[in-house]
Amino acid sequence: MTDGGAARAKLSTMDATRLPNLVDGRLAPPVTQRWLEVHEPATGEVVAHVPDSDAADVEAAVAAAKRAFPAWSATPAAERARHLLRLAQLVELKLDELAALESVDTGKPVSLARSVDIPRAVSNLRFFAAAATQFASESHAMEDVAVNFTLRQPLGVVACISPWNLPLYLLTWKIAPALAAGNTVVAKPSEVTPQTAAALSRLAIEAGLPPGVLNIVHGAGPTAGAALVAHPDVKAISFTGSTRTGAAIAATAAPQFKKLSLELGGKNPLVVFADADFDRALDTAVRASFSNQGQICLCGSRLLIERPIYERFRDAFVARARALRIGDPALTETEFGAVVSKLHYDKVLSAIELARSEGGRVLTGGTARHLGGRLARGWFVDPTVIEGLGPSCRTNTEEIFGPVATLQPFDGADEAIALANAVPYGLAASVWTSNLSAAHRVAARIDAGIVWINCWMLRDLRTPFGGMKQSGVGREGGAEAMRFFTEPKNVCIAY
Ligand code: NAD
Repeated sequence: MTDGGAARAKLSTMDATRLPNLVDGRLAPPVTQRWLEVHEPATGEVVAHVPDSDAADVEAAVAAAKRAFPAWSATPAAERARHLLRLAQLVELKLDELAALESVDTGKPVSLARSVDIPRAVSNLRFFAAAATQFASESHAMEDVAVNFTLRQPLGVVACISPWNLPLYLLTWKIAPALAAGNTVVAKPSEVTPQTAAALSRLAIEAGLPPGVLNIVHGAGPTAGAALVAHPDVKAISFTGSTRTGAAIAATAAPQFKKLSLELGGKNPLVVFADADFDRALDTAVRASFSNQGQICLCGSRLLIERPIYERFRDAFVARARALRIGDPALTETEFGAVVSKLHYDKVLSAIELARSEGGRVLTGGTARHLGGRLARGWFVDPTVIEGLGPSCRTNTEEIFGPVATLQPFDGADEAIALANAVPYGLAASVWTSNLSAAHRVAARIDAGIVWINCWMLRDLRTPFGGMKQSGVGREGGAEAMRFFTEPKNVCIAY
């Protein structure tokens, strides 16, 4: 569910806080002349206004993308790559500025935005610039009868819809392969965190991207997002967000036979066997549970600990969660910031109440954190650790997407796998053991698109990225993304 649509504002055309759309190579106000408020989670203050675009803005953007497609798709791959590299360079030059905007919009520590979000956006653009020139397709020879080869042609206008937790990181993760493969793009970033996407619009113009190749239409999901999904000229949709929205998008797109890539929610297990490297597992468990205030789709929100080390691990984990430096995301020493919005703050706090009512014992956290000064009205929730809940309760099966981790003990690999798989999601898992055979066996049996052994969130951009079950359909990353954004056409030539 989207939570940016609360307050709509009529603004004077001179208001500097209003962000523009990018349509046909120009920065433009929404046709509606309406904007939505953007709040800084750390202070609760309004910091910007994002276009409340509707179907008319989407129409203009799709039309521009459609006009730009013939020339862009015919542009040599090396030239498309150069455009992406120029954009990457501009993003890199603005790293500090973009990191500050990302921190203000999301509430995440600026150090995280500086070390992860913005560098990763640069890597995405560079990686897919290289992919543009290196992407190859298959050939199937039929002895001395014929040869088949597969043409991989761009689709046309594609939609890229992204969420608020990693705004520029996930936006570039989608638009870079789409553009590299020769498509033109209409992107719809999250209305909750739009400032870096608006900055990217300016950089795309500065980088000399031809008009209409990349269009960015801001707005609420049910209006701008839904209009984009339904538009008949949009050939494919790459979506990252909640499972509920993914289902709504699929319901619209499937009857139109659009290509769909859906990266959805998760409820990821972090499994620690008794023979694991305790300190490394502990360090990573803290990071996996509480990075970005637990608002990463890959976060390990269910910690499954083998019984012989359960109490020792629990006590150490709780101590580390308590020691996290909570505070102003703008300060470099801050390790843990605010959650993204008032709506999300209420949702996380009510999930903690639900855990209590289900019989969970809150070992640390469990409440809002009230900070003083400029943060007095911010949306902070303490890192929260809960034990005593079984695998089938709502707390252990529903996504919270906040700083809440639960602990469950297990006996042996079979029980660990059963617990790991006891959720409707299947995005990622992190398994900790020093037994190589056990690691292989467990990895093969866990229902997840991504399994990390003795690590977490170690990313190679060439690997397939995505989930199974309610965590999504399709894979992003490397050649998978290039395949998604192209149509395979077999050509059979008889000898
Ligand atoms: P969301 O589904 O509310 O919104 C995501 C995007 O979809 C936003 O841009 C929103 O405006 C748009 N949208 C909303 N309704 C729409 C509709 N009817 N039609 C078209 N677009 C619509 O998700 P969110 O709250 O922004 O993000 C949090 C969710 O994203 C969590 O569930 C998290 O697990 C998931 N997520 C998944 C991954 C992954 O790779 N699997 C990565 C990051 C986040």
